[in-house]
Amino acid sequence: MNKVLITADHVIIGPADHVIDRGAVLVDSGMITAVGTAAVLDTALDARVARLHCPGATVMPGLIDCHVHLAFDAGPDPIRAVTDTAPGELAAAMAERAGQMLAAGVTTARDLGDLVALTVALRASIESGAVAGPRILAATTPLTSLGGHCAFLGGEVITDDDIRSQVARNAAAGANLIKVMASGGALTPGGPRMYESQFTPGQLRLIVDEAARHGLGVAAHAHGTDAISDCVAAGVRTLEHCSWRTADGITYDPKTTRQIIEKDIAVCRCVSGDWRLFLEQMGPERADAMAEVVREMREAGVRFIAGTDAGVPGARFDDYVGMLEFFSSLGFEHAEILDMATMNSAYALGLTDTGALAPGMRADLVVVDGNPLTELDALRRIRHVFRGP
Ligand SMILES: [Zn+2]
Repeated sequence: MNKVLITADHVIIGPADHVIDRGAVLVDSGMITAVGTAAVLDTALDARVARLHCPGATVMPGLIDCHVHLAFDAGPDPIRAVTDTAPGELAAAMAERAGQMLAAGVTTARDLGDLVALTVALRASIESGAVAGPRILAATTPLTSLGGHCAFLGGEVITDDDIRSQVARNAAAGANLIKVMASGGALTPGGPRMYESQFTPGQLRLIVDEAARHGLGVAAHAHGTDAISDCVAAGVRTLEHCSWRTADGITYDPKTTRQIIEKDIAVCRCVSGDWRLFLEQMGPERADAMAEVVREMREAGVRFIAGTDAGVPGARFDDYVGMLEFFSSLGFEHAEILDMATMNSAYALGLTDTGALAPGMRADLVVVDGNPLTELDALRRIRHVFRGP
């Protein structure tokens, strides 16, 4: 019998403004079977069922990180960390990173680019219980242009046939989605600039169509304003970074934002925990412009989802809360931030069995000291993490 009744001062069932004070969650074999007040559930339940009383604590849905790279080491040179590490060693390092994420309360992680589908093997080890970690959704090898962003991961495509076969290879390897590097990025020496498009609108459409043929959605890395608008037209599911860059700096396009909302595309405005340093390096003027664009998108009604880009330089696997604090610094409400980290991310990833606490859902939940609705830092004080099967 794998049953436990968890009781706490607050149970955030989701959305985050739906709270049961002195609440309880009944977990049975990794699934949630009841949610309610502690008084009612405690009385109704056999005295032999285990109780986990958590005074001074809050229970909430497990956190979702929509953008990680388990193959990268968060050090100054992630390329070498991938290409110069023996496969067995790299797999062990990835397992350890997965463990760090779970300990930090992350019960679902979407990996957006690795080498030879190592995340698929890790996903299997986690599912079998051999390794402790979050549920993993894997993009495997990201599609990129010749010499393009993250080409070292092996996903360079030139012709339409290349695109078809790389998507097919990823699907056959067990990918949960397809990742495309629609614009340049910061990681790859000699690659296109961050604002430059790596694919034509037609190629992006082909990638989305091919992915759909294999039953998969597409996540698009897009910094450039042109790349963003082409990805939206092509019908990707999520836009990663979405930083509206052009040769002249930041050029926000509210028209594209309206289409993002109409097409129900989620935006993962990845920020690592060390965003304060990043903003400092940007300089006050550009940092302000960047913040203003995020605020405008929020006001327009964009669905933001949570991603740390963990693995790229400075983006640690154990600092999810640091990323949330960025949104708090921009004036996002705590409840809104918690929804972004849980149910909104689940929705965007197409997961209907996590992101909220309700009977029939996976028991993906965290117990934290204090109340994250009044203090995000409470999420750093993890008492227990539960993860469904
Ligand atoms: Zn990334």
